[in-house]
Amino acid sequence: LFDVKDQVVFVTGAASGLGFGMAEVMADNGARVTMTDIDADGLAKAAATLRDRGLAVEEAVVDVADLDTLTAAIDDTAARHGRLDVAFANAGISAGPGYGTEKGQMNAVSLDDWNRVVHINLTSIFQTIRAAAAHMKKQKSGRIVITSSIAGVGSEHMVGYAYAATKAAVNNLVRQASQELAAYNVMVNSIAPGPFRTNIGNGRLNDPEVARQFTEIVPLGRLAEVDEIKGLALLLASPASSFITGTVIPIDGGATA
Ligand code: NAD
Repeated sequence: LFDVKDQVVFVTGAASGLGFGMAEVMADNGARVTMTDIDADGLAKAAATLRDRGLAVEEAVVDVADLDTLTAAIDDTAARHGRLDVAFANAGISAGPGYGTEKGQMNAVSLDDWNRVVHINLTSIFQTIRAAAAHMKKQKSGRIVITSSIAGVGSEHMVGYAYAATKAAVNNLVRQASQELAAYNVMVNSIAPGPFRTNIGNGRLNDPEVARQFTEIVPLGRLAEVDEIKGLALLLASPASSFITGTVIPIDGGATA
């Protein structure tokens, strides 16, 4: 059910956090993984960690905001391996604090920041989906997994406006794309994490006060660790999810319940 051996996988934002967890679980299960990230040093270290364990990973420095480079990296992965089985459209950025503090309230939001977050968290995700789908349609199979957020499912006072809006938008992008791509046996799903301890927002979740506030919304009473994304990521990338498409799956310790 969970056999992904030799599958060709492309991951954005793979140097850190959830993207690294996704790359690691796929590589650990025998997939051939192209790890991409904007952070060249972090990416080199992250890929070396996995390669040193004998895993089949390659890396490419990609800023997802540069849509041509993003598309070329996806095309290149497919060309090198002759196919593309799984794409994790994971890279995303924080939009700073939410309306719970003055700095995150609507009048404090700069439109430059707004546009940057929309471009990276929404437009780049759309481009990742369609560039990956171009290959998957030809082979009549594929899995596309978006990293959204529970902040795209309901309101969340600790995340910025643009973040919440783009995460809601990608959830519907997944629904739309799943319908168009169903005829080609390409599944498109969204993972909606609650608070995970990663480096997002310059590591703001490592601030004890921010961590305390995020923990408060989680019935399980703690933040999640990166390894805890792996089960769902593997499920959505593997034969076990052969009848799952167009869904937004929270992984949030009960927060949205
Ligand atoms: P992270 O900062 O640890 O990792 C994100 C990675 O993306 C970093 O390696 C960073 O260099 C890379 N990145 C940033 N901008 C990029 C760009 N323009 N092009 C390519 N790579 C870029 O953060 P994370 O928490 O692992 O975030 C991954 C995804 O998870 C994001 O989409 C985020 O919104 C989502 N998410 C995170 C949480 C959480 O609590 N950590 C919750 C919900 C959703």
